[in-house]
Amino acid sequence: MLPKILVTGGAGYIGSHACKALAAAGYIPVTYDNLCTGWRDAVRFGPFEHGDLADRARLDQVFADHQPVAVMHFAALSQVGESMQDPGKYWRGNVCASLTLVESMLAAGVRDMVFSSTCATYGDQDGVILNESTAQAPLNAYGASKRAIEDMLRDFGASDGLRSVIFRYFNVAGADPEAEIGEFHQPETHLIPLILDAIDGRRPALTIYGTDYPTQDGTCIRDYVHVMDLVDAHLLGLDWLRGPDHLQTGGSELFCLGTGRGFSVREVLDEAREVTNRPVPVTEGPRRPGDAVKLVSGSEKAGKVLGWHPHRSRLPLMIADAWRWHQTGHYSG
Ligand code: UDP
Repeated sequence: MLPKILVTGGAGYIGSHACKALAAAGYIPVTYDNLCTGWRDAVRFGPFEHGDLADRARLDQVFADHQPVAVMHFAALSQVGESMQDPGKYWRGNVCASLTLVESMLAAGVRDMVFSSTCATYGDQDGVILNESTAQAPLNAYGASKRAIEDMLRDFGASDGLRSVIFRYFNVAGADPEAEIGEFHQPETHLIPLILDAIDGRRPALTIYGTDYPTQDGTCIRDYVHVMDLVDAHLLGLDWLRGPDHLQTGGSELFCLGTGRGFSVREVLDEAREVTNRPVPVTEGPRRPGDAVKLVSGSEKAGKVLGWHPHRSRLPLMIADAWRWHQTGHYSG
């Protein structure tokens, strides 16, 4: 019997790619998702359990039925703007829900978790390259909620022997190169899919959020990582966690998953024109509240400890993979 991994948010963008990679690596990914932002069509690589993280009884039942050996926790609300307007939704939907998950998994005797955190926990840091020891100062409730979950995992590591790998993501982009699954949000808020929508006429234009930032061309800079590289890190993190020598008595290890190189919004637009060989209609708008000027990180620690290298995270490849999926696939349910 292959080992099972409970994947919360397995119907979402990153979670579904993780499920595909887990299945290829000899695990059975069990998706637990309430489909509030995920897609049933994206669950193709293992069983699906419809449920909400706030539903303790349902979670307990799923742990009992499947007996997973570990949890990959992707499920989260993740819209910066919405989190500023409705912080309660984020504290309840991210922090309280994760607490219920942690208590349920520990009650079931499952101690290992790989958790998706975010560079939004940093806030603005004066253009420095971020790393695991950079101080956190989130600018929005989304980032604050993720930081709180990081703290929660550390506390349960000390008290109950929970063992966690925490990954701080930067900007995730691209899609499965086989275009079976890809990035599809409703509503869409992310730069690359919105650019592709503008290119193929699904939207009238891409609005650049702010052209007066203190950067070389006035637009924000982000560190883009290919979703397949990101899920590779999760498999390496899982192996590391389940290896014999790590975090035996509980605890948590943090890794930043960046490439060390940032691209401005205008650079991403130029690359998208190049890769698709199509014009991109663009308008210039005001800054989006909650946006940091620059978020770029290295990944020395993930390279050294886990052997992770983001070799697919080249902007033309990420846009090409996203474009292939964009032209062929979409979820309807
Ligand atoms: N952005 C933009 N127009 C859009 C969407 C995003 O100019 O329609 C910018 C946004 O201000 C940020 C970058 O693109 O600087 C990446 O934004 P995204 O929402 O993709 O990811 P985030 O960095 O917020 O996680």
